[in-house]
Amino acid sequence: MVSKLISRKKIPELVDAMIGDFVVIATTDKNNVPTLIEISSSDEVLFDTELPMISIKKLFHPAKQDLFKFNRTKGVIKSCLDESDIGVEKKIVVFGVRPCDITGNNVLDKIFKEYFRDEFYSTLRERALIIGINCLQPCYENCFCESMSSNDPKSGYDIMLTEIAKDKFIIVPNTDGGKRILKLYPDLFQEPTDDDFEKYVRTLELKKNNFKKYILVEGLPSELEDKFESRAWKKYTKECLFCGSCTFVCPTCYCFNVKDKISIDLKTGTRQREWDSCYYPEFASVAGGHDFRHEKERRFRYRYLHKFIDIPRRYNVEGCVGCGRCITYCPAVIDVRDVVEDVRGEM
Ligand code: SF4
Ligand code: SF4
Repeated sequence: MVSKLISRKKIPELVDAMIGDFVVIATTDKNNVPTLIEISSSDEVLFDTELPMISIKKLFHPAKQDLFKFNRTKGVIKSCLDESDIGVEKKIVVFGVRPCDITGNNVLDKIFKEYFRDEFYSTLRERALIIGINCLQPCYENCFCESMSSNDPKSGYDIMLTEIAKDKFIIVPNTDGGKRILKLYPDLFQEPTDDDFEKYVRTLELKKNNFKKYILVEGLPSELEDKFESRAWKKYTKECLFCGSCTFVCPTCYCFNVKDKISIDLKTGTRQREWDSCYYPEFASVAGGHDFRHEKERRFRYRYLHKFIDIPRRYNVEGCVGCGRCITYCPAVIDVRDVVEDVRGEM
């Protein structure tokens, strides 16, 4: 059996060993906010903690990214897919990713790798190994991962750690990359016993009972479609500040804008893309000046329809993973679960 056992006190040793061989990214409390960044020691890792403010999407679909540099007379002079620009020489390991974020990233994989191959996203994604940590209970009150079936991903990670007893974790590889990590540091692991495996199976069975469903997704797309003119949209539109925070912290929001940054002498420039938000004015404006979602209510509603109707229908995955970040970081205290249920309540 390729699975191994690791004690809690050996996990920092594993992280430190990996720092020698990989760029290791983990959640830290930089500026007192849970933040995913490159670490230089296991001491920086927040192990049993809430989700990082911004999910792993920022590693593969950065908030701002250069696409290419150009010269007005020579055309494109440098693609920013060059290794020196994105640092693909060394593999990265993202340590401690929660199941909902793995599922969220699987949505981005569908959109940027399977449905259409975006080289910028795919190159960054393919250099990463993901080490997940199983959630055995909701990590905080805003989590509703069970409703969105996101807390038991079958793919999108290389290793998953599951705590089966105090201080004991079963570590299960899910890819060849995951198996390679286990082979690299054999002294840190033990062989699990039959009893450990029984505990592992029992832990996974019991896990289900610790989560509660807040939203019933069955039938939700057509119900929301029927409630296109619901008064609830108006109510929440009045409360929303249209700051866009919910879209930036969302692991499945992926919209971006493309801009040219041009030198003062107008000779050279860089084409960049940066995150955009469907809550911003002009997000849906097109050449000629028409704006498809000029009214705030249309913009507010659109985000929900995109998440709960368009993404599931187009990609066959849920567009929301129930991570609760949009609730946590909304200055207007708007809760996605209340919006969906209020709109539904008018059925
Ligand atoms: S974070 Fe809240 S206030 Fe800001 S755009 Fe989203 S729903 Fe509106
Ligand atoms: S919509 Fe909110 S709860 Fe759903 S995935 Fe995005 S941030 Fe998380």
